[in-house]
Amino acid sequence: MEITHIEHIGIAVKSIEEQLPYYEGILGLKCYNIETVEDQKVKTAFFRVGQTKIELLEPTSEESTIAKFIEKKGEGIHHIAYAAKNIPEALKEAEEKGVRLIDRQPRGGAEGLSIAFLHPKSTGSVLTELCEHPE
Ligand code: ZN
Repeated sequence: MEITHIEHIGIAVKSIEEQLPYYEGILGLKCYNIETVEDQKVKTAFFRVGQTKIELLEPTSEESTIAKFIEKKGEGIHHIAYAAKNIPEALKEAEEKGVRLIDRQPRGGAEGLSIAFLHPKSTGSVLTELCEHPE
């Protein structure tokens, strides 16, 4: 597959509101977008750091995978998202090489990105997202 850069790092938080003073007040980053992704039951907040973003993920329901993650592991880094070219092709290639996929087809993520996750069982326990701006 062809990866160009780290698109974002996803961080699970109980409350975006409570974390803003750290990201904005201490790190001096600017939150430029807060958006709820209904089908993933998360609220997301984005900060640009050069070409990469930090994505805070706050669960909007106890059913959210983020709520379950926090319950199990506590707040912290949740996933790494790589900007990839041609996700359907990348997924096919990964699967052929024996990687377990969470998404066999890309789906819609925050910021209008096309996203797909690889299973942590196949990625050294790091939940890995591939994402791409649709043409
Ligand atoms: Zn993400």
